[in-house]
Formats: sequence, structure tokens, C-alpha cells
Amino acid sequence: MTQYNCPQCHRDFTAPDNAQSVRCPYCGNVQAAQQPYQQPYGQQPYGQQYAYGNGQMPGADIGVFDSGPSGKSRGVAGLLAILLGYLGIHYFYCGKATGGIICILLCLVSCGVWGVVTFIQGIMMMCMRSDEFERKYVYSQSTFPLF
Ligand SMILES: [Zn+2]
Repeated sequence: MTQYNCPQCHRDFTAPDNAQSVRCPYCGNVQAAQQPYQQPYGQQPYGQQYAYGNGQMPGADIGVFDSGPSGKSRGVAGLLAILLGYLGIHYFYCGKATGGIICILLCLVSCGVWGVVTFIQGIMMMCMRSDEFERKYVYSQSTFPLF
């Protein structure tokens, strides 16, 4: 893995070695990988691997149910949170198994009142930008990201 610092949002992240280009998981900024020399034009993978490359303006948000760079969709996560949030399914979906278990426990302890919180979470997930959703709920270091 190679350590990168995003020139746009100035966050640190890692990407696999020998990648031709890397994408910042926080703001979606695509940048050339740190290589000794550039690939010739025409062999760059821009536009094929990245959802933002298919004719949309850079920074334009993707659809609610389209998956972002992480492969998770805020629409699916939001719906899971609204319908089954008290079971923590949206945390499991985002890869936060510990958060999901905490969610179930909170639901038991609060006799289901906790479901109100996850319901609001779901609505917020559907309304926020995809990159914001991924930053908060998928890439976050937190085991139990709330809002
Ligand atoms: Zn960035």
C-alpha cells in the first residue's frame, strides 16, 4: 500500500501499489498515482473505472441508488435504516458489524425507541451527498458512526 495525501481535501489515505490512478475516498478526487513516469495517453483508465467519468461534471453527485467508490449506495443504506434500522442492518451493509451489534443492543435496551434514531439516520443518508455518506458511514474510522 502507498500513502497518499489528497490535494483537494488534504486527507491522508492509502491505495494499492502500482495503481495507475488513485481516487480519494473522502472527496472523490482522482489523481495520478505516484509513478516514476506517466503512462502514454490512451492507456489511462479514466472514465472506465469511475462513475464520475461517464459524462458527468466533476463533483456532480450520483443517483441515490448508485453505488459510489466504496460499492455502497446511500439509497440502499438509507432504506435499510428506515425499514430495519433497529436491527442495525444498515451498519452491517456499510461494513460496520460492530456498529450493527451495538444498534441491536440499543434497540433491546430502549425497547425499540432506538428505531426512531435509525429512522432519522436513514432519511439523512438518502438526503446527503454520496461522498458525504461514504465518508461518514463507510470510510469512517468510527465503529459506530451516528450522524
Ligand atoms: Zn480528497
